[in-house]
Amino acid sequence: MLDSFKVKKAGIELGLDLVGITGVERFDRFKKIADEEILAGKVPSDMRRAEPTLNDTSISCDPRSIMPKARSIIALGLRYHHEGTEMTKEPWDPRGKVARHHWDDTYADLEYKRDKMIEMIRSEGHDAFWDPRVPVKPAVCRSGVGVFGKNTLIQNEDLGSWVIYSVVLTDAELEPDEEIGPRCGSCQRCIRLCPTKAIPEPFVLDPSKCLSYVLSSERPIPIELREAVEDRIDGCDVCQEVCPRNEGLVKMKVEGPQRSHPWGMAPKLLELLKMDEREYLRRCSSLRWHGPSLRTLKRNAIIALGNTGDCSTIAALEPFVLGVDEDLAEHARWAMDAIRKRESDRTR
Ligand code: SF4
Ligand code: SF4
Repeated sequence: MLDSFKVKKAGIELGLDLVGITGVERFDRFKKIADEEILAGKVPSDMRRAEPTLNDTSISCDPRSIMPKARSIIALGLRYHHEGTEMTKEPWDPRGKVARHHWDDTYADLEYKRDKMIEMIRSEGHDAFWDPRVPVKPAVCRSGVGVFGKNTLIQNEDLGSWVIYSVVLTDAELEPDEEIGPRCGSCQRCIRLCPTKAIPEPFVLDPSKCLSYVLSSERPIPIELREAVEDRIDGCDVCQEVCPRNEGLVKMKVEGPQRSHPWGMAPKLLELLKMDEREYLRRCSSLRWHGPSLRTLKRNAIIALGNTGDCSTIAALEPFVLGVDEDLAEHARWAMDAIRKRESDRTR
């Protein structure tokens, strides 16, 4: 007979770091907040399209609408707190910063382990599947695996917020875990230190300002956020790096080069700007890639170059200024102006 113990034991054997269980009650609180934000126009349209949970909250927030015979939701977590390598950064050959969740193909790992968990449950005579509409963070919180931080990320007692999650719906009746209480206390560090002030109040994120969203969106980077991008080209980790709940955690080694980020943890911006579609696909071919498209990556590299390069790097921006992509041309003109202004301030 399948029970919670067996599910958790299977999770550990599969190499998952966290497994929690919750029931299939509706996510009413999450639905109310999501509906209000959608109505107020606070959720960008491309984010809604990319986020199946937000397409129709009356379905996504009621697990039984997705799987009528569902009895339990299993939350699965995998760490991605990898050790970094310090890279030299020179203004004539600057590097871009990649957020930790893309230093390794952790998402593919999690998907593989989740699918194995589904296989195990089915082999016990139950139905189980993953559905991208189930709201992951609320399910994870209710399963007792973690709790929302004021930066809207999930904090686990032992692993902090450096964990990615997925969920499995099943018709197996499993013993649910208990939800735990908030852990932030009076701390406000993430709110204070977010480079774009994207956390207007505790537990609320403004995606139109959050660099994790802005740098993955295909839309132009708003001018008022460009300086705050600094050297980032893929994601932002500030609100996790400053979080006291993440202090003192033991980091993991990045596995072999075949598993690491296709352009490394801190790729050279000038090389990224020259990369063609063939090379991009070659580097990503072994990954179940969830990262930015080549165009988005180049757009981000242009802004990062504008924030960190010296005058000798301006030539690398010229092809974009002359190119047919109007948005990239505008970003490249901004970057050239930023470099020239910095150089003139420096020599004044
Ligand atoms: S990811 Fe970066 S931009 Fe987004 S809320 Fe956190 S610190 Fe702010
Ligand atoms: S930085 Fe402080 S307020 Fe923000 S998530 Fe961490 S503990 Fe909570």
